[in-house]
Order: sequence, then structure tokens, then C-alpha cells
Amino acid sequence: MFGERMKLPVNGTKISVQNNKLVVPDNPILGYIEGDGIGPDITRACLRIWDMAVKQAYNGKRKIHWAELFMGEKAAGKFNGNYFPDETIDALKEIIVSIKGPLTTPVGGGFRSLNVSLRQVLDLYACVRPVRYYSGVPSPMRHPEQVDIVLFRENTEDVYSGIEYQSGSPEMRKIEKFLKEEMGATFFDDAGIGIKPISPFGSKRLVRKAIQYAIDNNRKNVTLVHKGNIMKFTEGAFRNWGYELAREEFGDSTITEDELWDKYDGKQPEGKIVIKDRIADITFQLMQLRPTEFDVLATTNLNGDYLSDAIAAEVGGMGIAPGANIGEHVAVFEATHGTAPKYSNLDKVNPGSLLFSGVSMLEYIGWTEAAELIKTNYPKVIEKKIVTYDFARQMENATEVSTSGFADALIEQIEKG
Ligand code: NAD
Repeated sequence: MFGERMKLPVNGTKISVQNNKLVVPDNPILGYIEGDGIGPDITRACLRIWDMAVKQAYNGKRKIHWAELFMGEKAAGKFNGNYFPDETIDALKEIIVSIKGPLTTPVGGGFRSLNVSLRQVLDLYACVRPVRYYSGVPSPMRHPEQVDIVLFRENTEDVYSGIEYQSGSPEMRKIEKFLKEEMGATFFDDAGIGIKPISPFGSKRLVRKAIQYAIDNNRKNVTLVHKGNIMKFTEGAFRNWGYELAREEFGDSTITEDELWDKYDGKQPEGKIVIKDRIADITFQLMQLRPTEFDVLATTNLNGDYLSDAIAAEVGGMGIAPGANIGEHVAVFEATHGTAPKYSNLDKVNPGSLLFSGVSMLEYIGWTEAAELIKTNYPKVIEKKIVTYDFARQMENATEVSTSGFADALIEQIEKG
């Protein structure tokens, strides 16, 4: 997989997994995929910031050795038109922890989306979106600082499973006949048909990750978000399997919301995480009205898709919202926005989304001190109103800087401490 076209750094050591845990050396090799469109601009800026944060946090005792991996247009250039080389997939598995910029999906390239394919082939079943507010960032909320949520969205099933039949197709006719004649279902003729599989296996492994995260990060509650009032055997089952998993595998460290009131009079006991559930539509509302009631969310695929973007908007929008797709151990951190082609190579856009995805990556490998340096110094730069164009147009008297100019300002701030 590594060779002439894709090189492994000579000095670093690969991360490994022992006893189901990551073992991270002081000189780990991490992968990065620049991405298309604005990807190279934001990646260049962020690599400088992450490296500086690590250097400052550990006085040079720790250092990331970056392996550039290829996917998207840059891969096509190196791998004979292949946007999605097997070599890169193998490298992502071998290196375990990587980060990527946005990718263009080639029209007619045989892919629904490179991102979706990546999640599928690596079985990255949890899409993780941390959403919190950084002081100074323009927000439509009166109290955006109340939002501090980590959303775990199931990434592999639900209506994203790709089981869909076009209106009028022979496959659709076959299913229509079966459903109407054998199952007694009623629906309008010629309806396109999509299938929404939600399994105990898929639901439980996602909820397990969410609860484990809550335990590891001293979070107070995990909310199972679903639409089980309408879709009982899929969304409702997700909720039921979530509670079942919590009881069976985390019985010592969790209580349900009912138990909180019945046994503890509403006072959360030390060391116990509250597991509760909310219907998806009301969650959207509560996320604006009472965000402090939420901490970690576990959602089905489609609900999580909508909800993660809606919550991100509360704290500054897609230009700053980070994300990751995580499997059993392999993790690909990523900017959540697209390639914004009209801004390609203009050194103009906000590096925030990729930057904070990298912060999550540092936390994932246990380098929390470096992550913290970025988290504490970022708002100091924003409060000085040194921002890229997207924030500048929402602020008064802002100093608009380029992507690299923002990186310079943040690096200077980190160095000053
Ligand atoms: P987009 O996110 O690329 O851009 C929409 C708009 O959002 C831009 O025009 C810009 O105004 C703004 N924007 C995006 N990122 C920004 C940033 N970092 N800073 C400031 N402003 C920013 O969405 P799109 O135009 O719908 O998609 C363009 C391409 O990106 C498509 O090919 C699509 O397939 C791809 N895409 C990739 C990913 C991914 O790789 N994760 C995600 C979404 C879309």
C-alpha cells in the first residue's frame, strides 16, 4: 500500500491496538487526506496549527509524523483516474487514525458519494459531531454558550442503506404486489419504495459508543433520539435496544430518567449517567429552548443527519462544525462542510471545521493538553475579531483575514500562551 505513490514517513511509529485500546507512541504516524476544492487551503493551515499546539504542549517531546494519503481528485491524478484507491483504504486501516478534508463526488464515477463509500468499506459506524460554543463566534442564539453536545449518529443503516426501488421499475412492482397482496399493506399505486432497516446490532454498537464516551468524558446524560411514536419497529426499537444495552452492559454506571425520579427524587447520584429518550421533533425544539438539558445524543441515521446540522447552526454553522466517523478503532476525522468549489485555492475560507475535527482527533489519541491549547486560544483570536470572511460579514468592525492569515494569528496566540 505504501510505496512510491504514497509514502510512509520514515521516522514515526504506527498507532496500535492492544486489549481493545489504542496504544499511541510519542511519535505517532497520523494520516491526512487534503481533499478537493478548499481542502488544500484549510489542510495546510490546520497542519501548522496542530503541529504548533503539540510542540507547545509537550515541549517537543511529542510530534506527529504525517502520512499524506490520497482520495478524490488528487488520488485520480496519481492512481490512473481512481478516486478511491484500495491502497488508501488499506492505509487508513493500518494507520488507524486519520483526518480528511472535503471530497468532490465525481459525477458518473460509480459512487453515490466517496464519503458514504468510505464509511461503508471501513465500517465507520458512528458519526460523531461535538458541538460547543467558542466565545466571540457569531451565533443566532441568545445563549449559545449553553450548547455543549456530542452527537453520535448511526452511520450504516436506516434509510441510508440504499435499498430503494424506483416508481414503475420491475423490482418496485414485485415489492408492491407482495406488500399489497400478501401483507395487506395499503399505499398509492406507483409509489417509489425505500426500505428502512434498523437492527439490534447496529443500534447497540452505536449506543455503546455513546455511553462509553459519556463515561470517559464525565458527561451527565445520554439521550436516545428517535421517532418511535410513529415508526415503532425501527425508531422505537432503536430506543428500546438502547435502554437494553445500557442496562445489560453499563448497569453500574447508568440509571434511567424514570429511576432518577422514582429512586433519587430527581437528584443525579455521583458517578451515574442518566439515560433518557426524546422524540426527534421535540428534540429540535428543546435544543433551542433548553440545550443545557442535553449532553450526549445517540440517534438513528436520518434524524442525526438533520439534527447535527441544526445544532451546529446554533454555535456558528458549518464553517466551524467538526466531525468524525469512527468504527471499532479506526477513525477518520473530517471537515463537515463540502468542497465549496467557488473558493478553491483563494486562501479565503474558514479552517474551523477541520481545525476542531483535529482537536477531536488529538483528544481521541489522548493528547488532551494539545487539544486544550487550541480550545483556549481560539476564542482569544475570535474575540479580537480576527476572522475569515464568513464570520467577518456577521460582525461589526472585524478584521478579515485569509485562511493562512487566521492560522498565523492563532499560532501566534498559542505561542504567547
Ligand atoms: P459546501 O459545504 O461545499 O459549500 C456551501 C457553501 O458553504 C459555500 O459556498 C460557502 O459559502 C460555505 N462554506 C463551506 N465551507 C466553508 C468554510 N470552510 N468556510 C466558509 N464558508 C464555507 O456545499 P455544496 O456546495 O453543497 O457542495 C460542494 C461539493 O462538496 C459537492 O461536490 C459535494 O458533493 C461535496 N461535499 C462533500 C462533503 C464531504 O466531503 N464531507 C460534504 C458535503 C458536500
